[in-house]
Amino acid sequence: MAKLEVNNIHTFYGNIEALKGVSLSVDEGEIVTLIGSNGAGKSTTLNTISGLYKPRQGEVSLEGERIDQLPAHTIVAKGISQAPEGRKIFARLTVKENLEMGAFIRTDGPEAIKRDIEHVYALFPRLREREWQIAGTLSGGEQQMLAIGRALMSKPRILLLDEPSMGLAPLLVDTIFDIIEEINKQGMTILLVEQNAQVALSIAHRGYVMQAGEIVLHDTAKNLRENEMVRRLYLGEE
Ligand code: ATP
Repeated sequence: MAKLEVNNIHTFYGNIEALKGVSLSVDEGEIVTLIGSNGAGKSTTLNTISGLYKPRQGEVSLEGERIDQLPAHTIVAKGISQAPEGRKIFARLTVKENLEMGAFIRTDGPEAIKRDIEHVYALFPRLREREWQIAGTLSGGEQQMLAIGRALMSKPRILLLDEPSMGLAPLLVDTIFDIIEEINKQGMTILLVEQNAQVALSIAHRGYVMQAGEIVLHDTAKNLRENEMVRRLYLGEE
């Protein structure tokens, strides 16, 4: 049984069908990436999995249990945590308060939460240095780190990442992706949405290519890197 199974979902904005029957799966321990150009439907797919939008048709299952009709907060409680595009951290709270907010659904007590904040600081030493800084004044890269750290604080069974490279300088993209790979090596299952196919396919095990609301190709990351269409359209090669 796949950890996350998305089967033939159709999601609409009014009359516009943004997802036209999307299917994908993520197995335990994998990094799976969803790549595609602007407007392909990548964020809509993630937001349908996390329950912000309800599919008009199709199913989403987590470890065999249907979740697509549950409210978003119940889906978080079941173990799906999303670090959203554009970061959306709590701008007026400190770094530490943001991390604590990420743990608000947990019931395993302050000691465990403190330990996990330490774990996030170990992954992102920059956040420890800035523990008391108001999050809205962090740089773009630091806000991205905080968004990922906050998503980890709910102790998810699967982490959804929406465009972690967005707006970051190339060196920082490498840093963030090294950390995403490290989080995966520590056991986290990850579904990664990216426009930057180059970096996404460099750390993913498998990938899905999306165009105009449909999955047009899926394969191992290695095969996708060698695929002619992927090279031409998404890796900027001749
Ligand atoms: P990007 O990388 O630019 O974020 P994406 O692949 O994530 O693109 P989506 O944001 O999922 O694409 O958008 C898919 C389609 O749905 C686009 O045509 C977009 O304009 C449309 N869309 C997205 N959100 C809404 C909304 N709230 N209302 C109406 N249409 C929307």
